[in-house]
Amino acid sequence: FTKLQAKSISSAALTVKLTDKPKEMLPNNKLVFGQTFSDHMLTIEYEKEKGWGRPEIKPYQKLHLDPSCTVFHYAVECFEGMKAYKDKQGKIRLFRPDMNMTRFLRSCERLKLPSFDKNELLKCIKEFVKTDSRWIPSERGYSLYIRPTAIATQESLGVGESKKALVFCIASPVGPYYKTGFSAVKLFASTDYVRAWPGGTGDAKIGANYAPGILPQLEVAKDGYAQILWLFGDKQNITEVGTMNCFILWKNEKGEKELVTPPLDGTILPGVTRDSILSLCREWNEFKVTEKPVTIHDVAKAVKENRVIEMFGAGTAAIVSPIKMIHYNGTDLHIPLDPSKPDAQAGPLTTKIADTIMGIQYGEIPHKWSVVV
Ligand code: PMP
Repeated sequence: FTKLQAKSISSAALTVKLTDKPKEMLPNNKLVFGQTFSDHMLTIEYEKEKGWGRPEIKPYQKLHLDPSCTVFHYAVECFEGMKAYKDKQGKIRLFRPDMNMTRFLRSCERLKLPSFDKNELLKCIKEFVKTDSRWIPSERGYSLYIRPTAIATQESLGVGESKKALVFCIASPVGPYYKTGFSAVKLFASTDYVRAWPGGTGDAKIGANYAPGILPQLEVAKDGYAQILWLFGDKQNITEVGTMNCFILWKNEKGEKELVTPPLDGTILPGVTRDSILSLCREWNEFKVTEKPVTIHDVAKAVKENRVIEMFGAGTAAIVSPIKMIHYNGTDLHIPLDPSKPDAQAGPLTTKIADTIMGIQYGEIPHKWSVVV
């Protein structure tokens, strides 16, 4: 009489129940990020004694949860953001999905949500994407945004490890971040608010990192700034921009051309786009590529000495987002875009990175990062 071992996620056990009420789809030009959802969802329930249940693809529907569930009280929730693309041949592609699965697992572990086999979850997500493939817009720049989520569903109050959990995955068709080419943004470097700190959770993709950023974001938006530039510490290190990683291309104090981004010191979300940009730029070998702390004062000095070449945010939503100005402590720091083109909204490196990553995502540039489903 042996005790059954708690089950891991098994893609072989996946069941599919198709909707009998397929939704109407919006034309591509009407798509707004995160507003419309595909026909189905993926769910996998967990109970400590039994382990992971059968993965289910089923019609998109409301969740039925007890108000005492841990997620509602202590924010035991984490998520991912990734995209499925349709290439010219109609094949479905994901971009480095293994990295999203690894980060998802790390976020779950940080919250003591149950562990799982990353490859098995990815297989389930691939099936989900195939099931809803008609929701992947085929135009270049369009994609199906995929949102894997994990929540603690134990029905009791009290801060502690949840014995029950739910992983679900929903999908939303999205258009390009920049519909009519780049549009460079103005940032407000916040000295009042901090996004993440040493020993905190800035390196995990947990909902609790995002809720406190909404108020500061709205405050700066009122004054016409697109995003906050998050600083940390006495030296005022640059950490991230809004919900993107931050890159600076400059001539450093030694006169070398260098691309700099803050190191993964626990306060920075390890972005898939960040990692991809670092790899590509190291491969191109056209300038030095460095992960090191950089302060707002370093940037202010470099702006004054005309050493800043380009600055941009990086993330799945936009790939790259060019920065034209940073307001810091009463001063506007003007960041160049492309000096050779007066109307340009992005510099040559920002543009090259966007073209290359998009080319890989849509299978136009063959690359191991683009995974055909
Ligand atoms: N930083 C934060 C805080 C984010 O939420 C995101 C988006 N996931 C990123 C950076 C960029 O990460 P990625 O390139 O994986 O989208």
